[in-house]
Amino acid sequence: MAHETTELEREADRPVPPADAVASGFETLPHPHPKSEEQYAEQMSALGFGVDFSDHMAHATFTNELGWHRKVIEPYAPLSFDPGTAVLHYGQEIFEGLKAYRHDDGSIWTFRPLYNAARLNRSGARLAIPPLSFDDFMASIVGLVRADQRWVPEGEGSSLYLRPFIFASESFLGVRASARYEYIVAASPSGPYFTHGFQPIDVWVERTYHRAGPGGMGDAKTGGNYASSLLPKVKAHDEGFDEVMFLDARTNTTIDELGGMNVFVVMRDGSVITPELNGSILPGCTRSSIIRLLESEGTWVREEPLAIDDVVRGVASGAVTEMFACGTAAVVTSIGRLACDDFDVQVPVGPMTKHIYDELTGIQLGRVEDKFGWCYRIM
Ligand SMILES: *Cc1c(COP(=O)(O)O)cnc(C)c1O
Repeated sequence: MAHETTELEREADRPVPPADAVASGFETLPHPHPKSEEQYAEQMSALGFGVDFSDHMAHATFTNELGWHRKVIEPYAPLSFDPGTAVLHYGQEIFEGLKAYRHDDGSIWTFRPLYNAARLNRSGARLAIPPLSFDDFMASIVGLVRADQRWVPEGEGSSLYLRPFIFASESFLGVRASARYEYIVAASPSGPYFTHGFQPIDVWVERTYHRAGPGGMGDAKTGGNYASSLLPKVKAHDEGFDEVMFLDARTNTTIDELGGMNVFVVMRDGSVITPELNGSILPGCTRSSIIRLLESEGTWVREEPLAIDDVVRGVASGAVTEMFACGTAAVVTSIGRLACDDFDVQVPVGPMTKHIYDELTGIQLGRVEDKFGWCYRIM
């Protein structure tokens, strides 16, 4: 059965107003002292991931009386908040992640931005955070990237990583939804997420801890899910693993995701399987794009529960030929080893993963035809 379009995908497919039409939605207050040419050159010549930030940030505030207001692109600077600020105590926050890419002709683009706009509001609905209009979201992205255009690097694997987030900023220790929120977009010129290049990662399958459970907020992009994933990640790192694979909390038998990346399995028969969205899995934009890309090429993509035992057996028998993880930050990365207390298997690195990586990054960089209308021109 072909992939059934999700609500997020439907919203992401809506027409986006051109950048010139939304740009003025956030007023730009230029930085009086942007980083010097020396600092700029230094940062851009050694791109990490999410380490350095650009000169500006987008910022808007929500109050019950005024709704979203004071929408500005302002100098990037530390924030100052009362120790009683709600997010510091109860974690009411959501975030997004998308990238601005420089094409070979110098123009600057982003990828399926309404997917992120729609998902921000979907996450917000789960955490009782008020929605932000698509126009405001687009204005903040376009305004920030235009103000910080020099910070969009060029070249494969490099981009200006954009981190929109909303957090509860009311100072109040009672437990209830905040009456005030800040929306901020920070921008970080970034190189590849994994510093070891196109090398497969070693993944520990976690049976003790879960990142999310039924009725929880696993399908919302919120810091709390990451907080619960950190201890297992530390333990796995100590044992030499790069990432942790989380299983579903109800049966502890099927694969959810890596806690920051979705998972795909390539089968010898040519089909590709990814866990179905069960409420505990984050509906990744990269996941969605890969499903569409593969289906357009005639590949059979199955979204179904994926038992870890079957996958391990499949790797051993050769029925599983490749495994990879995907997300905006890392794009696509091979899983080369899968281990737990009672198994430890090597997964081959195959051509499908590389093909998907090449297609996706090719579209994002304007080097492969964008048949899907995913690229959005910022300037
Ligand atoms: C962001 C995220 C992903 C990947 O989503 P993309 O939209 O592809 O970047 C996967 N899992 C979790 C938990 C995430 O937060």
